[in-house]
Amino acid sequence: MTRKYVNKALIVGAGIGGLTTAIALQKIGIQTEIVEKSKEWKWCRHYSTL
Ligand SMILES: Cc1cc2nc3c(=O)[nH]c(=O)nc-3n(C[C@H](O)[C@H](O)[C@H](O)COP(=O)(O)OP(=O)(O)OC[C@H]3O[C@@H](n4cnc5c(N)ncnc54)[C@H](O)[C@@H]3O)c2cc1C
Repeated sequence: MTRKYVNKALIVGAGIGGLTTAIALQKIGIQTEIVEKSKEWKWCRHYSTL
């Protein structure tokens, strides 16, 4: 699949992976839409070691 055929992307899941993918795709001009099954934001007590 080459870039010229991709104009839009549907991203399933608004976790860090989905949000990061949306930002990256939008930076190269691809329109994105995110769907998330959870109806509310949840607090996650994560302590990143990255
Ligand atoms: C208890 C716990 C503690 C952790 N602590 C750390 C930490 O300290 N440091 C660290 O670096 N990592 C930590 N992690 C790991 C980190 O949370 C994951 O690696 C990271 O969240 C994965 O991101 P993701 O976007 O792939 O998935 P997720 O964060 O799981 O996001 C996926 C999203 O997709 C949605 N979804 C799923 N199915 C559907 C569907 N069919 N339709 C629509 N939406 C859907 C979900 O609701 C969710 O919001 C921890 C994980 C857990 C469980």
